[in-house]
Amino acid sequence: MASSAAIPDLDRLRPAGTKRSSKRDLIVNAFLKQEGHLSADDLVELIKREDHRISRATVYRTLLWMEEAGIARKVDFGEGRFRFEHSYRHPRHFHLICKTCNRSYEFLSSDIEALVEEVAAARAFTARQSVVQIYGTCESCSTGRAPDDTSSNSELLFARDALRIAIATERSGMEFYGRGVKLVKDARAREIFRKLATEEVHHLKTLENRYQELLKQDPQLESRPTFLFFKGAANGLFSTGAEQLTRDGVDDLEAYRIGIRCERGSHRFFKRYGERFEDSEGKRIFLEFAEEEREHLELLIREYRQLVKRHRSDAGNKRRLKPSLSERSSKRPKSKRARSTAH
Ligand SMILES: [Zn+2]
Ligand SMILES: [Zn+2]
Repeated sequence: MASSAAIPDLDRLRPAGTKRSSKRDLIVNAFLKQEGHLSADDLVELIKREDHRISRATVYRTLLWMEEAGIARKVDFGEGRFRFEHSYRHPRHFHLICKTCNRSYEFLSSDIEALVEEVAAARAFTARQSVVQIYGTCESCSTGRAPDDTSSNSELLFARDALRIAIATERSGMEFYGRGVKLVKDARAREIFRKLATEEVHHLKTLENRYQELLKQDPQLESRPTFLFFKGAANGLFSTGAEQLTRDGVDDLEAYRIGIRCERGSHRFFKRYGERFEDSEGKRIFLEFAEEEREHLELLIREYRQLVKRHRSDAGNKRRLKPSLSERSSKRPKSKRARSTAH
């Protein structure tokens, strides 16, 4: 969040009834220009360099205000003092903290969050906030290699990872529907699976173009460390689904049900995380993707219901056809005409 475009509209964030303060604006802007996790003293030092007349108390007060306004988030790395990081357009995340160089590295994992929720639910515990901090030695300290440039824009990293996740999901969705095309017996079901497989190919191309566009903004973006770890989430759903498809005894209806489970899980996942993130390219990618998955989900549910109906009326026709079939007077396969004459 080093770019000035990321600085929020302070007028909108200012609590009701408070006046515009140029001192406060200066402090907020200085804070937002910094990456990483600043202590209150770090910020005081920084501000003193810009304007020595601003007091420590003003900086402290502004930090508190920023926390309330949702611009800053307090983090405790166990050093006996708090640090502050941006929370504006910066999703809540976990930290890796190096005890050698005191640098901290951010990441987010839906798998950890899912597990925390599962544990809390099992213990009937209403979780409000979870903090995951991993202490140890960073790559740079253990290998002597230069650390990753910390000025990298976390919003870009977030968008990059959001796109990677969406692309991985498209790929496994494509694989899933491709497998489905070969498996389903009903002609219409095959058509639907083919249509969805084709759609995933188009979406994949769009997402890959967007990914290439994003890389233009930072030539090193590809090689920067991963921020979002979403292993078991959306793409995991489709690969599990693809395995389930090839099991014995999976008929067309079951194939639809598996597809519905995948799309529903994927839609929920992207919507939930998209809604949680602050306004950013990553958020837009997630919400758009959630919308696509919702359309797929609705199509599958519609088609599933129609297939159930078709099966029912086929079964009804067969029952009605039984007497004439038992006579075996004709070797002709049951045609529409045979069905209509059976009434
Ligand atoms: Zn280190
Ligand atoms: Zn952080």
